[in-house]
Amino acid sequence: MTSTPTPRTVADTRWDCGGCTKCCRHFALGPVSDEIVQGLHALQIQRDWAPAAEGFAVQREGPQGTTAWFLRRRDDGACIFLREDGLCAVHALHGAQAKPSFCREYPFMLIEEPDLPPAVVVRGDCGGWAESFQEGAPIVDATTPLLSLKRAHPAGRFHLDPIPLLRGVGIGQGQWAAVEDRLEPLLRQPAGQDSTIEQIVSRSCQALHQLVGRPAPDPDPERYQGALGACSLHLRRVLRPAVEQPPGDDPEIRGMHAFLRESLELLDAAASELHHLRRLDPSASQYLSLVLRNELLGRLFQPLGGLPPWLGSAALGVRIASAACPGQGPIPARELGPRLATWIRLTRHATTQRFLIQMRPALIDLFEHASPDPGA
Ligand code: SF4
Repeated sequence: MTSTPTPRTVADTRWDCGGCTKCCRHFALGPVSDEIVQGLHALQIQRDWAPAAEGFAVQREGPQGTTAWFLRRRDDGACIFLREDGLCAVHALHGAQAKPSFCREYPFMLIEEPDLPPAVVVRGDCGGWAESFQEGAPIVDATTPLLSLKRAHPAGRFHLDPIPLLRGVGIGQGQWAAVEDRLEPLLRQPAGQDSTIEQIVSRSCQALHQLVGRPAPDPDPERYQGALGACSLHLRRVLRPAVEQPPGDDPEIRGMHAFLRESLELLDAAASELHHLRRLDPSASQYLSLVLRNELLGRLFQPLGGLPPWLGSAALGVRIASAACPGQGPIPARELGPRLATWIRLTRHATTQRFLIQMRPALIDLFEHASPDPGA
């Protein structure tokens, strides 16, 4: 008999759902397996949940280009099963096992890789994680059931090989463990202390250069500020025309439109303050550290094509989220968290990801020129 491996997780990761409902609004609502669709028909969910009377699933193109089932959306773009009280009608009527696998998995993410037990991380685009990262349930309790979940979508894989470490330097997956061991402690935040995102990125940049025996570039604050401004301007320029177009009647497009509008509002709110450093308080610093370490274990640098653009994107996202926070003093986790989640969702969105890839040279500048001096 083979035993189920214990998934790897980031130590001390805690989470509880805060019921913000962002995952029922801003994410693709599929693919859903035939089995789940048939199961909901057999349970006669249309009879018990009136909004689903005209159908609860539609077929459209899935992530692999094949036709797949997706849950229908309400006119405002939210999932057809989202109740007024923020709870899920399927869960309330028939329990978690009746829900599609992506709903059961979120906000966790399973990543498989050769020769190691799978890893389970919390996704930084969960809008309510900042409320529960200190007092929530340890995620180790929730991870094992994810291994046996029957998915309509494949689990994530660590596929990048070679892995870009620095400009022009890549390593094979066999060498990755040593890099991860070096990098992970640099993303940690001792309790009660704070660091700027620039300090975190700068010490990571120094360590990666040391590891490959190259001198790290001297931080250039002007170049850093220039890259911040260029990235913010580019994103606002590409999002604004999409947001200014009326979304029409298709609930799928309305859902996407609402998310892009929220993202543009975040970028606009941050624009005038982007060049002023706002300190994070110890709670926000702890939260940021947890987000970054979960992203590292989740190999979430892969979609951006390596460590430099990922760390550059983290610097940009924290600057944007901080600049959009109200007030002048140090920012607490509960203010930073939802804004950072919107940024992370934007960086994971299939459509907007290609804009980030266009911005890769500027993101690498942010990685190389972040200053360890909080006054710079
Ligand atoms: S985004 Fe996170 S906190 Fe909000 S409803 Fe979904 S799982 Fe819960």
